Amino acid sequence: MVSDQTSAGRRVLLNRLYAKYAADPAFAVVRAEGKTLVPGDGPMSPKLFFVGEAPGRQEQRAGKPFVGASGELLNEMLESVGITREEVFITNIVKYRPKDNRDPDQAERQRGSLYLRREHAILRCPPMVMLGRHAKLGVEFLSKRKVLLPNAQMAIGEWSWLQFGREPGFAILPLHHPAYAIYQKRNRPLLFEQFKAVLDPPSYTVF
Ligand code: URA
Repeated sequence: MVSDQTSAGRRVLLNRLYAKYAADPAFAVVRAEGKTLVPGDGPMSPKLFFVGEAPGRQEQRAGKPFVGASGELLNEMLESVGITREEVFITNIVKYRPKDNRDPDQAERQRGSLYLRREHAILRCPPMVMLGRHAKLGVEFLSKRKVLLPNAQMAIGEWSWLQFGREPGFAILPLHHPAYAIYQKRNRPLLFEQFKAVLDPPSYTVF
């Protein structure tokens, strides 16, 4: 049996999980559209676990999540709080690029969420930062509870880390997708301000 106690073991378990994902009939449509599975990327003992929606064209080409414009902005936000990309794990709910950047549908998102849960567990449940609407819907599906993305009208303190799962559980921080500041530049300061919360996961998090 492969153990998740070592980095090498976690790597093996993740690769097995991605192989299962690549054979899952639930993704037949998006697999035919996207062709290449874009697995999660990062160290085996990450400080944080980031979840996006689905890879775009550049991610599909590179076989890595968040390498395009959203990835550049995510790198900038990480840098702004003194964290390097090498310290965090980054993955997507749907791991194939949907055609013409369509939204993942509910079945893809829900099935993707189940894999996400396992991916996160293999890495021993680091604090999870979910980026954007589809990540939020995936987490709502898993947790059976409503999750709010922070909006400009909400003061810091009205939104933050949520506890998830059975005690002691782990922590989830819902944030806007970086794309929110790419298409509307005026959202940039708000996103950078809200991003500071990644530094402060609650103490009940299990590492
Ligand atoms: N947007 C995402 O949600 N994921 C990526 O990997 C790239 C852009």
